[in-house]
Amino acid sequence: MSDLHRKRGFTTAILHSDRDAAVEHGALHKPLHLSVAYGYRDARELAAVFQGRAQGYAYGRQGNPTTAALEEKINRMEDGVATACFGTGMAAIGAIMLALLREGDHIVSSAFLFGNTNSMFATLATQGLGVAFVDATDARAVEVALTPATRLVFVETIANPRTQIADLERIGELCAARGLIYVVDNTMTSPYLFRPKAVGASLVVNALTKYIGGHGNALGGAITDTGRFDWTRFSNIYDSYKTAKPALWGITQMRKKGLRDWGGTLSAEQAHHLAAGAETLALRMERACANATALAEFLAVQPKVRAVYYPGLPSHPQHALARALFSGFGALLTFELDPNLDCFEF
Ligand SMILES: *Cc1c(COP(=O)(O)O)cnc(C)c1O
Repeated sequence: MSDLHRKRGFTTAILHSDRDAAVEHGALHKPLHLSVAYGYRDARELAAVFQGRAQGYAYGRQGNPTTAALEEKINRMEDGVATACFGTGMAAIGAIMLALLREGDHIVSSAFLFGNTNSMFATLATQGLGVAFVDATDARAVEVALTPATRLVFVETIANPRTQIADLERIGELCAARGLIYVVDNTMTSPYLFRPKAVGASLVVNALTKYIGGHGNALGGAITDTGRFDWTRFSNIYDSYKTAKPALWGITQMRKKGLRDWGGTLSAEQAHHLAAGAETLALRMERACANATALAEFLAVQPKVRAVYYPGLPSHPQHALARALFSGFGALLTFELDPNLDCFEF
């Protein structure tokens, strides 16, 4: 944990993050900034902002102050170097793939993935990217799939929906040894239960739509750069994004491509909903984990239930790993009914 978190605690740090910077009129929440364009004193100042030589906002597609406040909150949660927010979790994952990889590059992905992520990677495989899907509960399967063209490894913490848990620590060691970008989708654990930076993740994905927003009233996604990856050793960074310090090269390219060029922008209103939701993440996660545990234990002893998949059950294949790495088992569970029963009737 960073000093900030140790000093303040998880929730307090999130609650106060808006107020650590100057907030307009003393507002307790970052206000909604809906303006698409921004005015400057003269054209010289405007040009400096557009060219990235001065701080400021240029055009709403590339960000706004309300979204920037949310980015700061997520960055604190993940103890990152920088965070960029997107309109959905999928837009965040898409920005990583499209901004950082080029034709002929290769990725190794867990075979146990959120269905839409799996579909995205399968599409990229038809567009000049090599993709290997492997059983990421075993780091050796990742290692065997690496090729000289491999640039990136992608896993989920607790896979949605079957709850397989990737061999997170050992894949982190492998990526560090081979100089690979290690992307961890932390959606199903959330930064309250787990910080992927601890296992060497280069980039952390959070679908803010899920636990962080928490109320089902806003879509959003985030990429956090943990600072673990050395971007000076990555040949796919365009020269124009090498003006900032090297720690920011990757996030700058993902922001420029994902927001400016591809338009996967999070609106200020959605960012505001997500930021308000984020304040109660700790409270909600504890209750959600407790509810899921009770439900999993109930289902596990029902004669008409054939199998329950929940990392909190001792019968789960990665139960010990989940216990060692996460401060809770999450709230995702799946189960199989007796095959003679009709699931719709159930
Ligand atoms: C939901 C989800 C996503 C995608 O997030 P959206 O905001 O719905 O686009 C990505 N990864 C995981 C693990 C998810 O559960």
